[in-house]
Amino acid sequence: MHLLNADLHSHSRVSDGTLPPEDLAARAHARGVELWALTDHDEIGGLARAREAALDLGLAWLAGTEISVSFAGETVHILGFGFDPDNAELATGLARVRGGRTGRARAMADSLARAGIPGAFEGALRYAGNPDLVSRTHFARFLVESGVCGSTHEVFRHYLKEGKPGFVPHRWAGLGEAVRWITQAGGVAVIAHPARYKFSPTVEYALFSEFVAHGGRGVEVVTGSHSAPEQIVYADTALEFGLFASRGSDFHSPEESRVDLGALPDLPGRLQPVWEALAARIHRR
Ligand code: AMP
Ligand code: MN
Ligand code: MN
Ligand code: MN
Repeated sequence: MHLLNADLHSHSRVSDGTLPPEDLAARAHARGVELWALTDHDEIGGLARAREAALDLGLAWLAGTEISVSFAGETVHILGFGFDPDNAELATGLARVRGGRTGRARAMADSLARAGIPGAFEGALRYAGNPDLVSRTHFARFLVESGVCGSTHEVFRHYLKEGKPGFVPHRWAGLGEAVRWITQAGGVAVIAHPARYKFSPTVEYALFSEFVAHGGRGVEVVTGSHSAPEQIVYADTALEFGLFASRGSDFHSPEESRVDLGALPDLPGRLQPVWEALAARIHRR
């Protein structure tokens, strides 16, 4: 059986990727992707361009976003697919989440200045394609450019993770809010890259059961953030909680991303792909 090459996780310059939505669509198409979603952090401003570019290429497309959520003192990412991009409640919710980012970025820059690195707010802003969406990734690119670190991964290790000088705790959306914004707009909510969170088994169980209770329906199993053993762990979790499974590279940039668009292994055959729940929401020309 031919398995669909779906890549349902990627970032453009509208959040913390480096390519415009059109270039991402072209790159996805050139690398054999057959169904694509742009999932900018807390943003849907790139979707109209992404959709046009994808449909012009004959690439099937789904609306997407990746919402930042605070859960049990950590940041969790919730992907949304197939929602109506013109939905007012979703737009208002995302605008509120974005609204906290500039104050947070100033506090991060103050913290870095105290650690001997001045000018980081202005520096990060120069890398942000969207001034409402300054992310840690933009700080990381600035610190690499300034020669403070050799790579963005090194910046995160030394500066931007919890407990490090550039880290500032932040309150994102609630889990129930994010799931509701997506589902009331006609979409499907999916827990992104669960292996990244490092919760205890008890808290992880709480995350999945509360997510399902709020109406969440999927989990990302095959992603650039998961090792092969982690894919097996979360394939089991998908079955345990009756969740659809998603697949996405989380591609951000040709220079920084380890996994390119469309270059992931297939979903394990025992899982139900999330795009089967979204058939009526897929756009193609
Ligand atoms: P923010 O939403 O501002 O907290 O930034 C989160 C983004 O930082 C993620 O979406 C990733 O793109 C990036 N990121 C997080 N951890 C790392 C890491 N260890 N190395 C490189 N990039 C990372
Ligand atoms: Mn990112
Ligand atoms: Mn993420
Ligand atoms: Mn992502």
